[in-house]
Parts: sequence; C-alpha cells; structure tokens
Amino acid sequence: MPTILVTGGAGFLGSHLCDRLIARGDDVICVDNFFTGRKDNIRHLLGNPRFELIRHDIVHPLFVEADQIYNLACPASPVAYQYNSIKTIKTSTIGMVNMLGLAKRCRARILQASTSEVYGDPEVHPQPESYWGHVNPVGPRSCYDEGKRVAESLCMAYHEAHRVEVRLIRIFNTYGPRMHPDDGRVVSNFIMQALRGEPLTIFGEGLQTRSFCYCEDLIDGMIRMMDQDESVGPVNLGNPGEFTMLELAQEVLRLTGSHSLLTHVDLPKDDPRQRKPDITLAGKLLNWSPRYSLADGLVPTIAYYRSLL
Ligand code: NAD
Ligand code: UDP
Ligand code: UDP
Repeated sequence: MPTILVTGGAGFLGSHLCDRLIARGDDVICVDNFFTGRKDNIRHLLGNPRFELIRHDIVHPLFVEADQIYNLACPASPVAYQYNSIKTIKTSTIGMVNMLGLAKRCRARILQASTSEVYGDPEVHPQPESYWGHVNPVGPRSCYDEGKRVAESLCMAYHEAHRVEVRLIRIFNTYGPRMHPDDGRVVSNFIMQALRGEPLTIFGEGLQTRSFCYCEDLIDGMIRMMDQDESVGPVNLGNPGEFTMLELAQEVLRLTGSHSLLTHVDLPKDDPRQRKPDITLAGKLLNWSPRYSLADGLVPTIAYYRSLL
C-alpha cells in the first residue's frame, strides 16, 4: 500500500482527505501543528494501524518516507491567517520548500493546495487558470495570497530543476462539517449565528459574491488531480454557483429555520468583490464537476454545527 503524507491533516479539508485515503486502503501520515486544526477532527482514526499522527510544524524540516504528499498545511480563514502574518508567509514559503525537498528525496508526487486568492480581487469573471490575478502585495490579505503565489512558483521551480512531480489545485471557497465553528469564515459564522439566534454579520452591503463548494466534491477533485498523469496544473476546483453574501444569509436562515436578524458591519480592506471558478479544465482533465448544490451541502453542515451546540 502506498504511504501518503497529508500536511494540515487535522484541519477541515485535511481530515476529510485522511478519511478518504484510509477508506481506500492507503497508509496515511498526518502532520499538523494544531494551529487551526483539532484532534477531534481525526480522533476516530487514531486507533487505526494504517494511520499515524505527527505533531510537527512544516516550517521545520521533516524526514519521513512517503509516496505521495498532499500539502494542505496553512491557515485558510482570513482571521486565522492574519493573526500571525509572518508565520503564514513562512508556512507557504519555508514550509513549501521543506515539503518539496522531501518530495525530491523520496521521489514522491506532491499536490499543493493553492487557492482562488491567487486571483486576488479579480478583474476577469469567471476566473480561468490563465488569468494572472489582481493581488495587492502590501494589503492585509497579502501574507496569504502572495505566500500561495510563491508556493506555486516554488512547485514549478522544483518541477523544472529537479523533475519533482507536482500537482497544483486552486481551491475556491469550500465548506462543510469540521470547519472550525469559530474559524471566522462566512459559512461557519452565519450558521453558528443562526443557530444561536444572534444577528448574522454581513460585511459591507453583502453584495460581494462567492462560489461555495461542498467538501466531499472538493476532496473527490483533489484525489483525481493527484492520481492523473497528464498535467501538473494549475487546475481550478470549486462550484461555479455564485451567491451574494445576502443570498447566502437568506439560505442559511431558511435551512436552519432561524429568526435571526441581519446586521451590517464594516467591509474588511481588499475583500474581493466577486469570485466564481471557470472549471472547464477540471471537467476535461479530471472528468470532474461538483454534485452538491448549496442547499444540499448546507444541510449536513448545519447538522454538524447543531451537534456541537
Ligand atoms: P484549516 O485551517 O482547517 O486547515 C489547515 C490545517 O493546517 C490546520 O489543521 C492547521 O493546524 C494546519 N497548519 C497550519 N500551519 C501549519 C504548519 N506550519 N505546520 C503544520 N500544520 C499547519 O483550513 P482548510 O480549509 O482545511 O484548508 C486546507 C488547505 O486548503 C489550506 O492550505 C488552504 O489554504 C487551502 N484552501 C482552502 C480553501 C477553503 O475554502 N477551505 C480554499 C482555498 C484553499
Ligand atoms: N528537507 C526536508 N525533508 C526531506 C528532505 C529535505 O525537510 O526529506 C528540507 C531540507 O532541510 C531543505 C529543504 O527541504 O532545507 C529543501 O531541500 P533541497 O534538497 O531542495 O535543498 P538543499 O538541502 O539542497 O538545500
Ligand atoms: N463575510 C461576511 N460575514 C462574515 C464573514 C465573512 O459577510 O461573518 C464575507 C466576507 O466579507 C467575504 C465573504 O463573506 O466577502 C467570504 O468570506 P470568507 O472569510 O469566508 O472567505 P474569503 O473572503 O477568503 O473568500
């Protein structure tokens, strides 16, 4: 059985990925420093002889043997990644170099979890992979956006200089069970607020848009990208359904049956105004498209947050 290293494996997406890899029979090494991840996300795997957990920070070198590496380690919520912006940059740069060094030594294939944030506040809509982006290099989001852009650049450099087999995916807003309830992202915020009967915090007028992908669909695309031999990417993975934050709030209120009010608070600086993936390439290369509508994905997500309360 192949051994697969998952960095950030105790996080939201990482823990779902570990579940899928264990279920198909792989050996999994989960590495996490528990900055935003939680043991609760992987507790059910701890007794499994094919699952190993290492508390480790990828900013420091790591010597283990692996056939494939999924590099997901990096805080993803704006609140979390701005909490210690220098650490966020180190994770996406020094941490990326370490994981590429490991991939080079082990001759392992490495998939990098990049992001739609490489497109910044996009001037092209929807965003295809060929779009170079519109990122403020000195704004509050730059520690994340520019870090992820350097990470992509490092992957291409190791691919060209050392023939490391890299795979790049650009993930658009993904949600689902195990997203930290206090993580600060919009889906978890709105659902927790609705369930507690608190006002839903709409940033700005709420007319900015996002496209929301359910975690199960995303993990399916991620594994397909890793396991194909044709392309290093980058490939967009996301759900092209596009919603304003006001529409998302209404959907959460409808599905929770909550009578919470809406409250408007200041729009954070550099908040992208619109976002929607062009997933033509993922369709052709991976034969992939998302199956879950927003309502289909919100139902199990709401059930998860209810179970926490
Ligand atoms: P998350 O915060 O739940 O998971 C990130 C995990 O990485 C956490 O378990 C955290 O403790 C761990 N981590 C952070 N820094 C680390 C370090 N230096 N060393 C070791 N572990 C570290 O977020 P997520 O939504 O599961 O995101 C996973 C990956 O996918 C991230 O790289 C993120 O940038 C990327 N991504 C996610 C989305 C999304 O919408 N969920 C969108 C685009 C990209
Ligand atoms: N590295 C690691 N694990 C490994 C191999 C390398 O963490 O299994 C680190 C190593 O410490 C180095 C980085 O990855 O800092 C980059 O490795 P590379 O071989 O590219 O660089 P070099 O060692 O030549 O500086
Ligand atoms: N947002 C909001 N209320 C919240 C949290 C976020 O209106 O409580 C908005 C935020 O301004 C952004 C969108 O929701 O326009 C998505 O924010 P999130 O932090 O989830 O992700 P990102 O901005 O990185 O796409």
